[in-house]
Amino acid sequence: MVKYVFVTGGVCSSLGKGLVAASLGCILEHHKKKICLIKVDPYINVDPGTMSPYQHGEVYVTDDGAETDLDLGTYSRFTSSMLSRANSITTGQVYNEVIRAEREGQYLGRTVQVVPHITNKIKRKIYECAENAGADIAIIELGGTVGDIESLPFLEAVRQIMYERPREDSLSLHLVLLPVLSNNEKKTKPAQHSVRDLRAAGIYPDALVCRSPSQLLLEERKKLSLFTSIREDSVISAHDCEDIYEIPLILHEQKLDHIVLRRLGLPTKIVALQDWKNIVEVTKNAEDSLDILFVGKYIEQSDTYMSVDQALQHGGISNKVRVNLRKVNAEEINEDTDLSELFSGVSGVIVPGGFGIRGALELIYPIEYARLNNIPFFSICLGMQMMVIEFSRNVLGLKDAQSSEFHPETNNPVISLLEEQDTAQELGGTMRLGSSKIHLLKDSVIGRAYGISEIFERHRHRYEVTQRYVDQLAGNGLRLSAKDSINEFIEAVEWKDHPWGVGVQFHPELKSKPLDPHPLYVSFIKHALQFYYENK
Ligand code: GLN
Repeated sequence: MVKYVFVTGGVCSSLGKGLVAASLGCILEHHKKKICLIKVDPYINVDPGTMSPYQHGEVYVTDDGAETDLDLGTYSRFTSSMLSRANSITTGQVYNEVIRAEREGQYLGRTVQVVPHITNKIKRKIYECAENAGADIAIIELGGTVGDIESLPFLEAVRQIMYERPREDSLSLHLVLLPVLSNNEKKTKPAQHSVRDLRAAGIYPDALVCRSPSQLLLEERKKLSLFTSIREDSVISAHDCEDIYEIPLILHEQKLDHIVLRRLGLPTKIVALQDWKNIVEVTKNAEDSLDILFVGKYIEQSDTYMSVDQALQHGGISNKVRVNLRKVNAEEINEDTDLSELFSGVSGVIVPGGFGIRGALELIYPIEYARLNNIPFFSICLGMQMMVIEFSRNVLGLKDAQSSEFHPETNNPVISLLEEQDTAQELGGTMRLGSSKIHLLKDSVIGRAYGISEIFERHRHRYEVTQRYVDQLAGNGLRLSAKDSINEFIEAVEWKDHPWGVGVQFHPELKSKPLDPHPLYVSFIKHALQFYYENK
């Protein structure tokens, strides 16, 4: 029998519900519990795949090709919960399925309504995902904020699940913000109101996790407990910390694991989180700090490249060095940019993915600089495509080399639409998505980094290296070091006469974890560290 933990949020959005849910999952895994993490998003989009990165941040892709919320990436980094399409539930999906069933006549003449049809569908999706995962405990994070109109059917579904199951089968954990005024006083009133809103929806929270800049004081804890009727030991401080990997430690210190297990009628024992302590210690105690230049299209939005940011940190943890990301908006670079100034003190460059021409061609300048100056260089997806365009223009002499994404009529489309994309009619969910098998060239940088010849990595793109340029590229110093096992798409390229210049069409960052860092990010940071020592 699966037990259910519902994580809701109040006062405002972006409090870090995903981090709290994932951290709780992480601690409970130390109790040998099988965890299933589910994200519920109340927006009407079927998935975030069609949303602008400025609206939504990173789109996290699962092995089975679902485009999901970035919180799933957080779940994947903190736990070993299996994540697939089923772990991401949106209003769009729920309504889509209900309306499709109505059109098929499945409701047999009944009026189809939010309650019970939409709420039943939500419940079924939660139950099915948790049960199919064979979980001991399912942690369900509700996106948005309690009080939002669009969250109401989800809250009602949660209320019903909590009501229809034995009391010790479920628990509600509410995350709130305690704003701080200029006199440094934490204000608890918005949190009290938020708990009241949750109660009004029929959900009585068992634990209150409080976000604030500083640690919760005893009198603040007592006050919150008294006015929310939540036990004092279940009012938890989630104060700001430098490193997100400290969060499981902070929650564990306050015994959130015992609070949850006890309330769910499960045995408690003392567990250590030594592996996570080690991760935090490595970063804190590292002697050196590497500056990595990060040139991308959506730099202003802090969470667009969440998984890339984190995978670089994992590379740092594994090489026992701090990684400092120097983020630069590609649009700010042009032919007059002083690149030696831009690169001063930089030990490595990363160019991540993106869509559309704005800020894309500008990437050619830093790519060329890294190639000519032997600076460790790593590019992902659009970044790799720009690496091929730079090489075609500056080495092959094809001055008009382009991607047909930007210039469909170009004479030299070295990057062009994947054949399978020709027939795609809709925008949503139609890219090349998810995991596929890739063959690596043994004698290559990437082959040595992985140490194996067959890998599985995830994709999210519509364009690829055009086959008719492949021989010309390979003959002039661009090693084509990985290919898709079925379609022979080019999956990775490397500069032959360069210590570490690699571009990949896939997204290795999606699989990197602090306790299991991705070999490509480890190898990139290792070479950046070498470059740092050589140029210190
Ligand atoms: N826009 C490019 C494509 O669709 C790259 C996509 C990406 O970087 N995720 O192929």
